Amino acid sequence: MNIVIMGPPGAGKGTQASVIAGKIDAKHLSSGDLLREAVASGSDLGKSVKKVMDSGALVSDDLMIDLIMDVVMKLVADSKGFLLDGFPRTLVQAEALNEKFADAGVQIDKVINLDVKSETIVQRLSGRRVCTKCKSVYHVDSLPPKVKGICDNDGEELIIRSDDQEAVIRQRLKIYDDSTFPILDFYSKSQEVFQVSGELQMDEVTGKILEALS
Ligand SMILES: [Zn+2]
Repeated sequence: MNIVIMGPPGAGKGTQASVIAGKIDAKHLSSGDLLREAVASGSDLGKSVKKVMDSGALVSDDLMIDLIMDVVMKLVADSKGFLLDGFPRTLVQAEALNEKFADAGVQIDKVINLDVKSETIVQRLSGRRVCTKCKSVYHVDSLPPKVKGICDNDGEELIIRSDDQEAVIRQRLKIYDDSTFPILDFYSKSQEVFQVSGELQMDEVTGKILEALS
């Protein structure tokens, strides 16, 4: 089964994708991992990716799609499915990917959208505290340190990463919303898009996704 999983940053998409992939014997294709693996492999594609990343530029849609197609065609040859996470992020990417898939006879069987309210995500992410020394991650509500603001391991003062500042989170969510709506609209023209609430406990969300896939 070939699946695209969508969801805002902080929705737990990566975690869900990885759990689901294990349960349905599909490969979890996260755009970040694909880039890292390509570079590590030293292949021609990997060398192109490395050149772009070293220059500080963003990897182009074409290059990202080439990377995905490279892995997907190997999976197809092995009769294995995939679960695409973190791509497409824009309508242009979704259309380009669909064209490549159509040419190669690859079909997306299900599109899952993990639906989480902005307020929930802001609360989840803005409560995050990290230790710069040992990199431990805490959360003021769900995983507090023994002493407020202090790392359990080394007594270091905990900080809020700049990515986790509320204004930054809200900006990222807005960008996500603006770009995602057209993608879901695009997919819904050719297939059903399954809305799964990401507000529940992690294992409950997994259960809902598996239900949608069955
Ligand atoms: Zn620490």
